[in-house]
Amino acid sequence: MDRINITKFIKSFNEKATYLAKDQNYKNLVEHGQRPETMIITCCDSRVDPALLFQADFGDIFVLRNVANIVPAFDESNIGCATGSALEFAVTELAVKDIVIIGHSDCVGIKGLCAHTGNPPQNSIEAWLDLAKDSLEHDLAAYPAEITQLNDQQCLRTLALSWQNLASYPQVVRAIDRNALKVHAWYYDINKLAIKCYNHTENTYENL
Ligand SMILES: [Zn+2]
Repeated sequence: MDRINITKFIKSFNEKATYLAKDQNYKNLVEHGQRPETMIITCCDSRVDPALLFQADFGDIFVLRNVANIVPAFDESNIGCATGSALEFAVTELAVKDIVIIGHSDCVGIKGLCAHTGNPPQNSIEAWLDLAKDSLEHDLAAYPAEITQLNDQQCLRTLALSWQNLASYPQVVRAIDRNALKVHAWYYDINKLAIKCYNHTENTYENL
């Protein structure tokens, strides 16, 4: 079977490289390094690519993707984990001004979390999702009326907990305290093409 995607990607890359060779923004990034002001943490799902969604350019966003966009709570035992190291770099080296965690509807990772049995994890996916199991008990003050699927409601809870967990990372806390950083949690509905943002004061979600 022909590997159509790979052939298409090689052609696309060659076209893009030709364009970028003359692009001043790209030249500046090569010469002076990156200075993105926003970090986005989102799911690996191929329908939720932040650069495509927000029409971002090279250098605009520092992106971390993992299954179900989970930010585990910081503790000494998870020093060196991918999420913590990317957060640390974004806050201390890049001095990003905003961190946005983006969850999405119809998330397979969240469905896996909903199927959590309480038994010891049997594989990497279960072990990863286990880090968010507390969000199964987490509750919101209210749910947006149009979000009726249980999986999607769980996505809102997991997002809210990940948002709270950001405040367990010492570098994040210090940056927030000196007013240099704001943190956000957004829920993207891939069908309605709409975003709701977490209001931590009200513990609910509202339209962006
Ligand atoms: Zn997902």
